[in-house]
Amino acid sequence: MEIYFDNAATTKPFPEVAKEVFEVSLSDYGNPSSKHMKGVDAEKHIKNTKEILLRILKCKENEIIFTSGATESNNMAIKGAVKARERYGKHIITTSVEHASVREPFLELEKQGYDVTFLPTDSFGKVDLESLKESLREDTVFVSVMYVNNETGIIQPVSEIGEILKTYNSDIIFHVDAVQAFGKMRVIPKNIKADLLSVSAHKFHGPKGVGFLYVRDGVRVLPMIEGGGQQKGMRSGTENVPGIAGLGKAVDIIYSGDLDLRISHLKDLREWFLTGISGLEGITVNGGDGDDQAPHIVSVTVSGIRSEVLLHAMEDKGIYISSGSACSSNKPGLSFALTAMGLSKEETESTVRFSFSYESTKDEIDMSIKALKELVPVLRQFVRK
Ligand code: PMP
Repeated sequence: MEIYFDNAATTKPFPEVAKEVFEVSLSDYGNPSSKHMKGVDAEKHIKNTKEILLRILKCKENEIIFTSGATESNNMAIKGAVKARERYGKHIITTSVEHASVREPFLELEKQGYDVTFLPTDSFGKVDLESLKESLREDTVFVSVMYVNNETGIIQPVSEIGEILKTYNSDIIFHVDAVQAFGKMRVIPKNIKADLLSVSAHKFHGPKGVGFLYVRDGVRVLPMIEGGGQQKGMRSGTENVPGIAGLGKAVDIIYSGDLDLRISHLKDLREWFLTGISGLEGITVNGGDGDDQAPHIVSVTVSGIRSEVLLHAMEDKGIYISSGSACSSNKPGLSFALTAMGLSKEETESTVRFSFSYESTKDEIDMSIKALKELVPVLRQFVRK
């Protein structure tokens, strides 16, 4: 038995995506910058993916820059846009619950002399809008807020934030890390007044190591990677053509099918899971409800059991889940998101994440709940000894 419930860490590529990557690698292996037919054939894949994205994001061709994924997109957005606005001010704002690929560039900028505000959240992990309003200053140049938190699935009020920022000063650049939102809701940068928006393909059944940054027309971002001047000098390096083709394929499959059906399936799964665990003692669900909550993530604190212990016990039964967030598991230390929400060290260390895909089933959830019901009392006893 294999039940994969770690889809917020990464997803299994759609077979069509794997096929596309394989076929493009073999047939259109030319360098997209080459002037001969092989180059032109390769370039067609980049154009094709762009066309798909323009339709979905309702943006223009020159507003998409392909990257190696959201870590690069976030770094480029933050460092590139902040540096481009250096002479207008040095105050930059983010939240205390961002992914490391946002938090670390902010900490680096802080070291370089920027004044950084880390906004607090409420107990659901939602950014406090009053704190945002209070923190805005004449020299504020840049704000970054994630769309959906990767650890809890809470949806941040990004449209309200966009509105607040643009009303205060339309020159403030608003960046949104939309990694956990893309494919789980309709993400349209203009609707949330985002100037920059990051996405990674492997979170929605695309290939790993490829993503993009949306850069609104007219927003200046200094390139972080210099070299041959590809992508209009914004991101040098030969484009990952098979990856970009695979990204396009995944977006096309998700959005040209019935996205609403996919989303409602995920919502059903989440509800099913919550009902299933409601009988289990000492379990708390972190995050929000209804419209405040992304449908694919459930974060649960299982009191008295360390998350790694539960993770491996579940793994022994063929069920793959995550402790906190897989993306931060490389770095020792407590989860920032859960800590910001007010969870104690002990609670944070006892939190696991289940994350579903469109292909997950209620049967799989039933089997996972059964496993939890068997394991939790036994592991708790073991811990007490
Ligand atoms: N932001 C968020 C919210 C994420 O969940 C992740 C992936 N865990 C990233 C950024 C980084 O994406 P990647 O590892 O694909 O660069």
